[in-house]
Amino acid sequence: MKNYSYIHEKLSPHLWRIIDHTGVCCYLVVGTEKACLLDTTNGLGDIREYVQGLTSRPVFVILTHAHLDHMGSTGLFDEVYMNLEDLPVYDYKTSTEHRLYDAQNRLKLQVSDISELPPVYNKEFRPLIDGQCFELGEITIQMISVKGHTPGMMCALLKEERIAIFGDACGVAVMLMDQFSSNVSEYRESLLHLKEYEEQYDVVYRNHGTFTSPKELLDNVIECCDLVLAGKDDHVSFQVYGHDLFLCHKLKPGTQERMDGKEGNLLYLPEKVK
Ligand SMILES: [Zn+2]
Repeated sequence: MKNYSYIHEKLSPHLWRIIDHTGVCCYLVVGTEKACLLDTTNGLGDIREYVQGLTSRPVFVILTHAHLDHMGSTGLFDEVYMNLEDLPVYDYKTSTEHRLYDAQNRLKLQVSDISELPPVYNKEFRPLIDGQCFELGEITIQMISVKGHTPGMMCALLKEERIAIFGDACGVAVMLMDQFSSNVSEYRESLLHLKEYEEQYDVVYRNHGTFTSPKELLDNVIECCDLVLAGKDDHVSFQVYGHDLFLCHKLKPGTQERMDGKEGNLLYLPEKVK
């Protein structure tokens, strides 16, 4: 397979963003003793070698959740943490059938055998739990459980730098899209848990699109949940990757922007509201 390349940008003294050729990013946190790669993107290039070009510290991986665009090439690493609530998602997403479907349809790759795809992690995951802290030397990562998009979805808080990485947990168009996703009322509870940390960060980063959001994003998505639960959302029919979903807020034609200009939207299954 062609060796796809990455680009990166330094965001703060301890944080790098690494972007793959599809526009998905992951984050590298470098302390004085260790480095942590938060997700690995689609992993179609040698992400391990790329990271070694940015830091000489030993690197371990934390997966925020078990979706293929966040965990490609995880098999190149020896130490990988994941919330074990995402194991059923991991097993489903890494099945031969799903990986080939994803590669051919989402990534538009001409592949006929999974041996041509980036290696997935086949050792035992190290467990990741709500509130767990990782001391890397002068920078600490605290992981926060925000169940919804997947059952084991985690956000990361870089404590000394007051940065929150929401990942796919809360964003411009949060997807509660399949059998593994929470219903809207359970997801709302998760967002209220994330809100308990709100005084501890000033910056919000994500892994798709513009990568950066205003802090109001969290309140805006909580409001989306409230509207859906009250049956007062715009309830726009919306298809994504073969899932028949509903969108909370109408979009300006041809854009991902809400009509009212605010950021934060919710895609949900009609049968998984309450
Ligand atoms: Zn995801």
